[in-house]
Amino acid sequence: MKIPYGRQDINHDDIKSVVEVLESDWLTQGPSVEKFEDNIALKCNSKAGAVAVNSATSALHIACIALGLKQDDWLWTSPNTFVASANCAIYCGANVDFVDIHPETYNMCTESLKRKLVEAKKLGRLPKIVMPVHFGGSSCNMEEIHNLSKKYNFKIIEDASHAIGGTYKDFPIGSCKYSDITVFSFHPVKIITTAEGGILLTNDNEVKKKLVTLRSHGITKDSNDFIGKNDGPWFYQQHELGFNYRMTDIQAALGSSQLTRLESFLNIRNEIAECYKRKLSSLPISYQQVPETNYSAYHLFVINLDEDLLSRKEEIFSGLLKAGVGANVHYIPVHLHPYYKEKGFKEGDFPVAELYYKRAISLPLHSTLTSVEQDYVIDNLKNSLKI
Ligand SMILES: *Cc1c(COP(=O)(O)O)cnc(C)c1O
Repeated sequence: MKIPYGRQDINHDDIKSVVEVLESDWLTQGPSVEKFEDNIALKCNSKAGAVAVNSATSALHIACIALGLKQDDWLWTSPNTFVASANCAIYCGANVDFVDIHPETYNMCTESLKRKLVEAKKLGRLPKIVMPVHFGGSSCNMEEIHNLSKKYNFKIIEDASHAIGGTYKDFPIGSCKYSDITVFSFHPVKIITTAEGGILLTNDNEVKKKLVTLRSHGITKDSNDFIGKNDGPWFYQQHELGFNYRMTDIQAALGSSQLTRLESFLNIRNEIAECYKRKLSSLPISYQQVPETNYSAYHLFVINLDEDLLSRKEEIFSGLLKAGVGANVHYIPVHLHPYYKEKGFKEGDFPVAELYYKRAISLPLHSTLTSVEQDYVIDNLKNSLKI
């Protein structure tokens, strides 16, 4: 058997939607992208709407620019994330710092954030943007982070790459109730896919307008926005330095088709997670605590080995791989990558995330995982643990 930790779930309707676009007049950004944006905005109760782009990485980059992140500014994020959450600040010439995680939710710890803000205020080094990451699809404590943003005057980007379909205090993630911008990823291992793709949601019309311009070279075709004279119907103007971060209509059609099965994907993912918790309950491991305020999208199912098993992690992990179980690790703390160490970060800077990393193994979790496969994963975990 060979069981990946994550994979896409493509059906006949998905394929049909893509073929329809291939047979139409538009391949790149066109009517299907607009439809996809409207569908996502509706799902998330977004007021200003959505802006689709070619990856969540691109989305995070233009989110930072739209919120004014510049040279010498600071962006703070979680060390327990994919490198893209931090890299987006470096693209803007800004500085990155991290806020340690909570040992049970694996998300940015709001107590650590508070303490760090108090210190930063004394040093005159408050962040311009804080980027909470909803690890595994379970929301951070957004109300608390939002309250702190009012007190310390920073903007909030939710990296919700794992979390489409999830809710926090009965609000869909993406509603931006407690943030300025929310970003989803549509990479094939995520909850729904467009092969590559990402999207931004905001409730601020001005921010949305900036994102639309930045996605396509900094160009506007809206004659109301022209500076000076309108030369004629062919006219457009570049107002700032943007990018080609556009999503194609092919991708968007796949996304809209996938979106119709979002609820069912989340039901299956939650069932699989509950089954893991039930069947693993007697083992010397713990798993992510999902607060009662949250419905998790369960992008990941991470186990944390008890500390007396730390010296055996490599052996346990290799045992799973040898049996064809696609175990993985999310995440190597971002500050320990050589690129970030070169910026002065070192082991011991974020001890909770570092200990978490030593204990963490992600087990396979995706909507095409069968119960036979899941039992196979569980049996082989027990074998590897020698229990
Ligand atoms: C996947 C992921 C990204 C990047 O997504 P892409 O669409 O592959 O660019 C960013 N942040 C987190 C937390 C992710 O998991």
